[in-house]
Amino acid sequence: MQKIILFYKFTPLKDPSAVLLWQRQLCERLNLKGRIIIADHGINATLGGNIKDLKIYVKELKSYEPFKGTAFKWSDGNRDDFPRLSIKIRSELVTFGQKHKLKVDTKGVVGGGKYLKPKQVHELLNKKGDEVIFFDGRNAYEAEVGKFKNAVVPEVEHTRDFAKALKDPKLDKIKDKPVVTYCTGGIRCEVLTVLMKENGFKDVYQMDGGIVKYGEQYKDDGLWEGSLYLFDKRMGTKFSDKAKDIANCVHCNNKTSNYENCANKTCNKLIVICRKCNKKTLCPKCQKKLVTA
Ligand SMILES: [Zn+2]
Ligand SMILES: [Zn+2]
Repeated sequence: MQKIILFYKFTPLKDPSAVLLWQRQLCERLNLKGRIIIADHGINATLGGNIKDLKIYVKELKSYEPFKGTAFKWSDGNRDDFPRLSIKIRSELVTFGQKHKLKVDTKGVVGGGKYLKPKQVHELLNKKGDEVIFFDGRNAYEAEVGKFKNAVVPEVEHTRDFAKALKDPKLDKIKDKPVVTYCTGGIRCEVLTVLMKENGFKDVYQMDGGIVKYGEQYKDDGLWEGSLYLFDKRMGTKFSDKAKDIANCVHCNNKTSNYENCANKTCNKLIVICRKCNKKTLCPKCQKKLVTA
C-alpha cells in the first residue's frame, strides 16, 4: 500500500548541503520519489512510497533536532505520481522573491498571521460573520477549479507576483477586516501573511495545514467549493463525491475540474478542459492557429 506525504518546516539550517546528502541517502534507501526543497531557512517536501517506508522516513526526519515537531499530511497516491526523486537547494522554500523580508527562528517564521485550525476558522466566522474575508494564497489558475466561498483571488500567475499584487489599491478596503489566507498545505501562507501585514493588513490569519487539513475534516460539507489542484501527476483531488465542478472548459464552457497541458509542446499552457473536449488538448489559441493554418 502506497501513500503520499506533504510537509514543510521553517527553521534555521546551518548546513543545507549536509541536509541534502542525508535526505538523498534516506530517500534512496527507502525507495521514495518526489520533490524536496532545502533552504537555509527550512525544508519543504512531497514524497510518495510504501506506507511502511514513509513511516520510517517520518521517524528519521523528526529525529533531527531542527525538524522535531514537523507536521505531516498524508494523502492518497503513490511513488509513480512523481517522475523521479528531486532534491534541491534553493534560496527560498517558496519563491516569493522576498527573502530579505523573511525572518525565521527555531519556532518558525517570525511575524506571520495567526494560525487557525479548520474548526477555529468556523468559530471566527460564527463570531464575525460576513466581515471575514478568505484570501487565496495560490496562483489564480489553481483557484479556478476550487476555492473557499467568496474568496478574494489575486491575479497572480506565479508566487513571486504576490509582492506586487498586494500593493493593488483594490485591496485597501479589506485591510481592516479579518482576513484568512489559505493555500494547499499552508507553506505559502507562512510567507504571504508576513508580506500582507507589511502592506497594511491589520487582522491576518492563516489556515493551519491549508486546504488539505480543512478538506480532511470538513470534506465538501464546509466552506470549500470544488477540487484541489495539485502539482503532480494527480493534477487535482476531490474531498468527496459531492465535490462540485466550478471551472468552465476552455472549449465548450461546460463545468469541469479537469486540467491538461496544451498538446502543442512549445505552448504547453495549463488549461481547464472537460473530458469530452479532451481529444483536442490544444489551448484555444493553438487550436485557432491549427484551423487557420
Ligand atoms: Zn469541453
Ligand atoms: Zn497552446
